[in-house]
This record gives sequence, structure tokens and C-alpha cells, in this order.
Amino acid sequence: MTPLVVENASKTFRQGSRSVAALQAVSLRVGKGQFLAIMGASGSGKSTLLHLIAGLTSPDSGRILINDQDLNRMSDRQLTLFRRRQIGLVFQAFNLIPTLSARENVALPLMLDGKDGNANGRVDQLLETLELTARREHRPDVLSGGEQQRVAIARALITDPAVILADEPTGNLDSVSSKSICELLRDLCAVQGRTIVMVTHEPSVAAYAQEVAVMKDGRLIDRFASGGAATAAELATRYQESLRAASIPVT
Ligand code: ADP
Ligand code: MG
Repeated sequence: MTPLVVENASKTFRQGSRSVAALQAVSLRVGKGQFLAIMGASGSGKSTLLHLIAGLTSPDSGRILINDQDLNRMSDRQLTLFRRRQIGLVFQAFNLIPTLSARENVALPLMLDGKDGNANGRVDQLLETLELTARREHRPDVLSGGEQQRVAIARALITDPAVILADEPTGNLDSVSSKSICELLRDLCAVQGRTIVMVTHEPSVAAYAQEVAVMKDGRLIDRFASGGAATAAELATRYQESLRAASIPVT
């Protein structure tokens, strides 16, 4: 079973009389336990790709398979259930429910699924792993940005999904919290075999992933091994090379 396969996915948005080819024939495969970073300039189609993978929008053509299941062949109801169980989402703005405690936010996907909110102490165990035990009864407004993102990651993990999708997860964090969130994501792959696709435009963040996919103008133009966190500067150079190579006109 492959956690994620994107086959020839295209998506065009119409804005009045203009149309924007946000994604053009993108194909991508991510194996179990892989941590892939998607880089690209603003407007290159990164979020559109992530939204398609999350089943939030559907492609005009092409297929998205999560654990070998085609999202396009599901009814709306099947897709809603499938997304809740198999796709963990982490956003730049955390998107926690402000009136719920950290523990309740993490338990929410289980409760929406009609399950016990703390079956076998799973929620507490996850809070412990993510070093949130002391904050479990706190509401998001008294948590730091880094803590809020940890809660959001715990919420994404609670259903044991096939893939975790993160869109600029460190975009709202200071450098210390950013580093700890990057280390957490890296360890979730390395230690627990989680599968993560993360959008970022920062080489220092992408360096925590095993691989980098580069997008430009709606196309996936390159994919390379990132080579570890010590090489953020090298990664930045490699990324710039990809973009330059893609802009050389083919004659
Ligand atoms: P990125 O995340 O890399 O900044 P996006 O995927 O958000 O890029 O956007 C890619 C292109 O598609 C941009 O030109 C953007 O304006 C356009 N786009 C994205 N979403 C929509 C939408 N819902 N309606 C119209 N245009 C959109
Ligand atoms: Mg975006």
C-alpha cells in the first residue's frame, strides 16, 4: 500500500475572464515513512496541490490515491469519513477550536467519528509524547505558538492517518519553536514511520525533510534528496539551481 500517489493532476481556476493553470500534470509518489518538502515561489501551486491531496478540492483531470484508494471515486460522505481518518492536516495558523482545551482539540477527530474521546488513554499518551501533558487543560489562547502547533500536530496524528499534510507549519513561529516543530516532524517519520508532505518556502525548514520537490508555475520541476538539517545553505543553492534550470528556454 502506498500512502500517496498523485497521477497527472491538473487544476485550473477561473477568475472572471482569466483562467489560472494552478496545477499542470503533476505526478508524485510518497512512500511510507517518507518526509517530503514541497518548495516553490508564492503562486506556484503548492497549496493547490496540498488541497487536492487532502480531498478539499478535486482535480480537473488526473487522480489522487491515498493508501491505494482513489479520492475521486468516493461519494461526498465517503470522502468526509476517509479524510477524517486517513488525512491529518496541519496549517500555518494552527486552526484550533478556541473554546476547547488542548486535550479536547486533540480528541475532536475521534469524537466526530463517534468514538470515545480518550479511548485507551490514546489522547493522553499522544499529549505526553508531544510534551503537552502540563498544558492539557489549557485553551489555545494561553498556549505559545509552538505549543498550539504541537496540539495541532497531535490532532492530526490521533486517527493514525495514512498521510500528514502540513502547509507552512512554521510560518507563524519564532525560530526556536520552528526548530522544535521541524525536529518533531522529522522524528515522527524517522521513529514512528509517519508519512509527511510539508509545504514550505524556507530552505532551513525543508532541510529537515528527506526529499524536496520543487514547483514552478503549477508544474513539479524537480525532486532531490535533502541531505540532512546541516545543509540548509546547500539546499537553498540546490533549490535555486532547479528554478534556474527550469527557466532556460528549450529550443
Ligand atoms: P502557493 O501555495 O504556491 O502560493 P497556490 O496553490 O495558492 O500557490 O496558487 C496557485 C495559483 O492558483 C495562483 O495563481 C493563485 O492565485 C491561483 N488560485 C489558487 N486558489 C484559487 C482559487 N480558489 N480561485 C482562483 N485562483 C486560485
Ligand atoms: Mg500557499
